[in-house]
Amino acid sequence: MSTQIVKTLDSVSAFLKRSHGLYIDGGWVASQAAGSLPVYDPASGERIATTADASAEDVDRAVRSAHRAFTSGVWSRRLPAERERILLRYADLLEQHGEELAQLETLEQGKSINIARAFEVGSTLNWMRYTAGLATKISGRTFDLSIPVPEGARYTAYTRKEPIGVVAGIVPWNFPLMIGMWKVMPALAAGCSIVIKPSEITPLTLMRMAELATDAGVPPGVFNLVTGSGQVCGQALTSHPLVSKISFTGSTATGKGIARSAADRLTRISLELGGKNPAIVLKDADPQQVVEGLLLGSFLNQGQVCAASSRIYIEAPIYDSLVAQFESAVKGMSVGQGMDPTTQINPVASKAQQLKIQGFLTNAREHNAELISGASGPDPQGYYIAPTLVLNPDEALHLTREEVFGPVLSLTRVADAEEALALANDSDYGLTASLWTTNLAAAMNLTPRIEAGTVWVNSHTLIDANMPFGGFKQSGTGRDFGVDWLDAFTETKSVCIRH
Ligand code: NAP
Repeated sequence: MSTQIVKTLDSVSAFLKRSHGLYIDGGWVASQAAGSLPVYDPASGERIATTADASAEDVDRAVRSAHRAFTSGVWSRRLPAERERILLRYADLLEQHGEELAQLETLEQGKSINIARAFEVGSTLNWMRYTAGLATKISGRTFDLSIPVPEGARYTAYTRKEPIGVVAGIVPWNFPLMIGMWKVMPALAAGCSIVIKPSEITPLTLMRMAELATDAGVPPGVFNLVTGSGQVCGQALTSHPLVSKISFTGSTATGKGIARSAADRLTRISLELGGKNPAIVLKDADPQQVVEGLLLGSFLNQGQVCAASSRIYIEAPIYDSLVAQFESAVKGMSVGQGMDPTTQINPVASKAQQLKIQGFLTNAREHNAELISGASGPDPQGYYIAPTLVLNPDEALHLTREEVFGPVLSLTRVADAEEALALANDSDYGLTASLWTTNLAAAMNLTPRIEAGTVWVNSHTLIDANMPFGGFKQSGTGRDFGVDWLDAFTETKSVCIRH
């Protein structure tokens, strides 16, 4: 066994062994349902923890608690500066417990401890502090009006941004801590209460963050957490009549179902959904930048990134040389458990995801696609997938159009930029894209024609709290991040005053 494996902290072992309930009204309570859900370590397939499998009644209790807290004004009417201070303290607590949370994330999700430390903890801290600051920047506008009646009357109006109410936050399993905080922080900064449901595959870090919220001073009921299945717990939460806003990140299929059910009550909804993100590489691109940038963009977190570059269109003159460089990089990647910081490719998050990716690769082989694979995982019980390139996939392959969400990257030779653009845009998705070129005019001409919510030039997958993020087409509705982020967690009220 490698001597590089990180030693599990005692606090992490103790947390895993606990008997876990639901976090309601500022503390743990037992679920009223009899069932429980296992959490597995993707590196070994071993069960490492057991969580509650919340029923619809449990969810009702959590939502009612959040609603009580909201209407009491204990948080929603608190001074913005006090909310900001408590949320900054919350970020400090994440920093203080950073190693513990990074280890928990690696153990439940499979990702590299390096990524857990740098992204799940490090980047999340940036997001938390940025969003805490938004609590004191909420503002409206004033308007001069032209209402002519009754004669002599004058009117002035202004808008107020008011917290929307109880938010239901639904989180996927690829970056549970970070994406969870992308829901909790704007909701709390705006003055809302939240009930959050992590994926049953990766609930642990958000469970720990629920406790830290209380330690930071978030009042009981303002942040409740329920664990359980999507079908029962998630469904009960998103269809609850006291929920005013759904913030969902996950697959397009689940997002569409939630949007249909939200339509019944016109519940406000933000959807951050899947992607099938293209990269267009022009012949004048810097090859080293391309290979480094797209290896990161494609294989970070085993490709389980909504923004991951998964199909690369390369102009013919540099295609062979780039393929050779990608091949050498992929064949040199070390594969192993996330707790070993020397490994580059780690297990995917679940057995189901492993089987799904294997299905895409079997389909490609059955159609005689040209595949190039790197090393496979060390433990046959772990959920490993060897990093794989697919050369010039044709339309018949499922992976050509569907989101694989794994360490699988297709490389396609194109005649010119126009062909690349047509192929890049030929997708139901429109989350992200990248363009690789040293020609400024080409960059400026092509970026407006790419159908995606984020387009990078000479980089991919790099996101920032101050840059809006969200999808075109079936990749979602609404935008996260940026100075306008809280708009999605507030209602705009116009106040019209006669004077
Ligand atoms: P998923 O299967 O859609 O699940 C997402 C969340 O929804 C999980 O918590 C799931 O719970 C829950 N859920 C499932 N069915 C539900 C229902 N009927 N009602 C309410 N909630 C329900 O997606 P995933 O496989 O976890 O995540 C991967 C997907 O997320 C990919 O498509 C990826 O592109 C997308 N994603 C998008 C972004 C973005 O910002 N655009 C970011 C990250 C990921 P259980 O897991 O417990 O069933």
